[in-house]
This record gives sequence, C-alpha cells and structure tokens, in this order.
Amino acid sequence: MKETICTIPINDVFGPKDGCPICRLHNMLEQNYLDYILGAAMMEPDVRVETNEKGFCTKHMHMMVGKGRRLQNALLLETHLERIKTELIPKSVKGKPDKKNIAALERLQDSCYVCDKISWGMEHMFQTVFASFSTDPEFKALFNEQPFICLPHYTMLIKSAAGKGGLKGGGLSEFYSASAALAGKYLETLKDDISHYCKMYDYRSKGLDWGNSRDAIERSVEFLTSERPDYIE
Ligand SMILES: [Zn+2]
Ligand SMILES: [Zn+2]
Repeated sequence: MKETICTIPINDVFGPKDGCPICRLHNMLEQNYLDYILGAAMMEPDVRVETNEKGFCTKHMHMMVGKGRRLQNALLLETHLERIKTELIPKSVKGKPDKKNIAALERLQDSCYVCDKISWGMEHMFQTVFASFSTDPEFKALFNEQPFICLPHYTMLIKSAAGKGGLKGGGLSEFYSASAALAGKYLETLKDDISHYCKMYDYRSKGLDWGNSRDAIERSVEFLTSERPDYIE
C-alpha cells in the first residue's frame, strides 16, 4: 500500500490549473496518509512501529483528531505514549539530565510520520514531473500554464531538479527557467497588488478602485508559506 497511496496521477495535480500544483499534491498526499493511518494501517504492525517512533507534528495531530475517529486516534496514542513512557521518561531520575535523552526527546518532537511520508511522496512525484517535462511536450505546455508555484514548493522543485536523480544540462536549465518564470511572474503581480492595497489607505486614493488587491495579504501569505490564512476582511 505505502507505494500505491502516493501514486497520484500527474494530471490530477497539474490538470486543474488552480493555485500552486505542488500545494495540491501536498494536500492530496496529506489526506491520503491521514485516512490511511486512521484506517487500513490499523492492521499493519510495522506502520504502528513507525508512528510510535516518529509521532506527529502539531498540525497533523490536530488534523487526525479533527477527523473524529476517536478509537483509532486513541489506539495510535496508546502505543505512542507507551513508547515515550518506557524509552524516554525514566521512572526515577537522579543527578544531571542526560544529553542523549534530551537529544532523543528533541528528535521525537521534530519528527512526524505524516510529514515524512508526504516528503517521500512529493519527491516521488518530482521524478515523474522531471521525466515528463523533458520528454512530453504536452506536459511541458501544461506545466507552463500553471497559475504559479509557491515559494516553498519552488525551492523544493529546483533543489530536487538540481540534485541527484534530477535533471541535467539543457533540460535542467529549461526546467529552472520555466519554474522561475511561474514563481517570478506571480511574485510580481503580488508585489503590485500589495502596493496598490497600501496605496488605497492613503486619503488621496478615496474613491479609487481596489482592483485585485483586496485579498493581496492572504495571497501573499499563501505564496510565502503554502497555506492561505482563512481570515479575510
Ligand atoms: Zn505550493
Ligand atoms: Zn507532520
């Protein structure tokens, strides 16, 4: 299963042309993995070993509880808490805090089963993106038609393209400039919209049109962080 859960068709990611396609991929993988660990994975002991070991970040723990599967959440937490109890917080302590123990506690709180799986699934998809971009002109056109790529995903994409198993030579240059164009053009629009938004607070702008600037803050946050804040004036 672990592999099939992240085999999201490339067209489901790039086809809608609505927002950052890699955000869409991230959210699809996230939902798949959350449903999986609170569902079928209950029957897979090796998954539990991994969730006991890594735990979950704040965001994913909240999303898991938000799914409402109370018993499944409790079963996952039961063995995770047990592992922390037996391995990380000794019953009786003496002397100084142990550096190794502190490092293990910190490692636990920096790791997340779901985040790791999402990263794995994204890297997997990036390989497909690179291969399709270099060999399939239709996909290349579709890639270039994306509305934008957000900053964190632009960074991930170009890092992966330039890294091991990525692209080489002319293929790398072409992918780099196509990605930079998607992030860069959108950045330009955002900057103009934010400037317009600021200008609208000037008394001399009274009566002028807000244009596309009303949600410029939310769109900027979405571009910078991959997540659109849900508050809006
Ligand atoms: Zn994104
Ligand atoms: Zn996480």
